[in-house]
Amino acid sequence: MSYVDSILNDLKKKNSNEPEFIEAATEILESIKPVFDAHPEYEENFLLERFVEPERVIMFRVPWVDDKGDIQVNRGFRVQFNSAIGPYKGGLRFHPTVNLSVLKFLAFEQTLKNSLTGMSIGGGKGGSDFNSKGRSDGEVMRFCQSFMSELHKYIGPDTDIPAGDMGVGGREVGYLFGEYKRLANVHVAVLTGAGLEFGGSLVRKEATGYGLIYITQMALKPRGESFKGKDVVISGSGNVAIYAAEKAISVGANVVAMCDSKGYIHDENGIDLDVIKEIKEVKRGGISEYLDYPGKRKTSEYMEGEIIWNVPCDIALPCATQNELSEKSAKTIAKNGTKFVAEGANMPSTNEAIDVFLKNDIIYLPGKAANAGGVATSALEMAQRSSRLSWTFDEVDQRLKNIMENIYADIDKVARDYDHENNYVIGANIAGFIKVANAMVAQGVV
Ligand code: NDP
Repeated sequence: MSYVDSILNDLKKKNSNEPEFIEAATEILESIKPVFDAHPEYEENFLLERFVEPERVIMFRVPWVDDKGDIQVNRGFRVQFNSAIGPYKGGLRFHPTVNLSVLKFLAFEQTLKNSLTGMSIGGGKGGSDFNSKGRSDGEVMRFCQSFMSELHKYIGPDTDIPAGDMGVGGREVGYLFGEYKRLANVHVAVLTGAGLEFGGSLVRKEATGYGLIYITQMALKPRGESFKGKDVVISGSGNVAIYAAEKAISVGANVVAMCDSKGYIHDENGIDLDVIKEIKEVKRGGISEYLDYPGKRKTSEYMEGEIIWNVPCDIALPCATQNELSEKSAKTIAKNGTKFVAEGANMPSTNEAIDVFLKNDIIYLPGKAANAGGVATSALEMAQRSSRLSWTFDEVDQRLKNIMENIYADIDKVARDYDHENNYVIGANIAGFIKVANAMVAQGVV
């Protein structure tokens, strides 16, 4: 049995109740197999045994009082996965589906993603099973304060710098930061995605979505293609999906469908993004409300409980959540002639779906490369904050674009170097892994 296979077997036994973590680890370890022939020192240093184990996992109780005066209790987590190349960095997710398996998969992915950005940031992820839907601002604030009253012990600007993720936007980051500042008595970059008035960066809100479009453009260009006139399906209608749609439309794409967890809106003549923004960013409502807006086109329709991937498109951008794109949907996508799939979300495609993309010569950009623009811009936020400078929108946007171009060049080169041209799963995993692995070897057995 190969070194990688024995580690994977052991990991499956030890973590049999963590399906998402096993899924992510399987994808990563299978694709970095070719590295070990050229690097016997990794096995000699028991590198993979250490690489798959988080450095630290923190779990805690989050008690808070709702508007009726009743006590609620949620579970809080922070997974500090790997700090070989820099302090832990990765978002906080507030969503009822949050558990240790989900956060370990996200933190593991984050370790490689952060390495791909070329910046000195390690991998972490955290969050809670708290559901902010239907909760008042006061309830969200009290929850965030209770969450931070425990988390603040384990984070800091040179230790661990969380950010937003699903369910954690500007409002939540504001409340979390306020509580951290009160407890620690320092005004430092300990949470990115901060408001512009207190240290935030321009473009952070747009960064993941814009970055996704920039890297997809890099993949389109050498193949003689562009977004112009292309039909694009974007799943989700949250932070990543909205700004991916905004940038795609600005470069000439026709965004024909977007969704939320209940259903999707389809309009062959193009979705009205201003309406989506109003529903999701202002009213925090359901996407079905799209049809209530005056001036909506006759061609728009809402499909409740249906799979968005049945809508034919040239370019598919999964931007909602993990495992939202199954093998069956991947086959539909292939049958409909889609040529490019780029992931704004983390692990939205199952491993079986990815196999379908690769077998059908669909150019597939995995999330750890394609959505790295968010964390990269968080690192730009940290740089501005520590130098007490604020760059212009264009300056940050240009840096983001350069970072995405570098990531594409890197994963493309590594895929070719390992004789797997066009296989960006291999390109991204190996490129991200080698930097972390070399840092771990250099730092000894820690
Ligand atoms: P948001 O919470 O802002 O939006 C998530 C969107 O996905 C919502 O529209 C939600 O619908 C929808 N959704 C959730 N579950 C499902 C489902 N099962 N089927 C269909 N739609 C669903 O999150 P973000 O946009 O921030 O994050 C989206 C993804 O991108 C996540 O995987 C996240 O980890 C990843 N990501 C985010 C980054 C960021 O900067 N924000 C950076 C890198 C990756 P509803 O409103 O009904 O819940």
